[in-house]
Amino acid sequence: MDIKKVFVVGSGTMGGGIAQVCGQSGIQVLLNDISQELIEKGLKNISWSVGKFVEKGKLSESKEVILSRIEAAIDFSRAEEVDLAIEAVFENLNLKQEIFKKLDKSCKPHALVASNTSTIPITELASVTSRPEKVLGLHFFNPATMMDVVEVIKGVNTSDDTFHAGVNFVKQIGKESIRVEMDIPGFLLNRVNLIGYVEAIRLVEQGIGTVEEIDKGMRLGYGRRMGPFETGDLVGLDVSCNGLMAIYDESKDIRYYPPQLLRRKVKAGHLGRKTGRGWYEYKGEGSRK
Ligand code: NAD
Repeated sequence: MDIKKVFVVGSGTMGGGIAQVCGQSGIQVLLNDISQELIEKGLKNISWSVGKFVEKGKLSESKEVILSRIEAAIDFSRAEEVDLAIEAVFENLNLKQEIFKKLDKSCKPHALVASNTSTIPITELASVTSRPEKVLGLHFFNPATMMDVVEVIKGVNTSDDTFHAGVNFVKQIGKESIRVEMDIPGFLLNRVNLIGYVEAIRLVEQGIGTVEEIDKGMRLGYGRRMGPFETGDLVGLDVSCNGLMAIYDESKDIRYYPPQLLRRKVKAGHLGRKTGRGWYEYKGEGSRK
């Protein structure tokens, strides 16, 4: 069954990107946030980004047609209109559980409810709903409009039908799915990636290599598009630090404990591109100084 309409909660980096990807795939989107101003800001970002894609000739439809599918929805009860709700609010268990309770109340019984969480177990979100078999993880990567993969995550109570519906949805929006059979924090790809990131930070801490040299080496030696520090700045040092801590908290695996240098930079507000300074310094629009 194709998804016809989606309710996206959170119009920030990820929610906005997910809304755009859905709109570009012919799906109707209701975009929610805590205020009309924030939704308008999200819609403005989407409009700018769709414009760029159209300019580059990457879309077959006009900007107007795509944007007409994406609508502001400050009223949460409008979640009753959709086949799928995707939550993309701050990475906070209590907040996400509140949203899941509200979605469970508003969504029709057939609707699937998904989270874009990077680290919170899907089972913990599903546990506050009356439909745990219809809850799943849909973990998009940043920027959602550019990254061609989405992890589809099974919670303990996620049904096979829901899991398959998640895989089909990812296909519907033109991306590849990675199936994650158990909702461990970090899922599959962050687990692998974060270990390398932690090791790279430790090597810098120990004075064995520099940020620039490691990034250059990983690009040229391993064919990566970006080195670990470049990716770290894009994702946000706070996001990675919280993600590492969440994995460490649950697994008690010391390999995931955030290195001191990362924790200090987060405390200092050097969060990456979004604050103009992280591992590198940036002037407007994400270009490096
Ligand atoms: P963000 O800060 O850019 O956006 C979060 C949005 O949620 C904000 O607009 C905020 O106003 C909104 N929000 C907060 N409380 C709300 C509520 N009660 N109701 C409605 N909206 C509310 O964050 P983000 O980077 O988009 O991250 C969102 C989620 O996606 C997190 O769970 C994060 O772990 C996950 N994620 C982030 C990345 C990344 O690289 N940034 C990648 C993959 C997954």
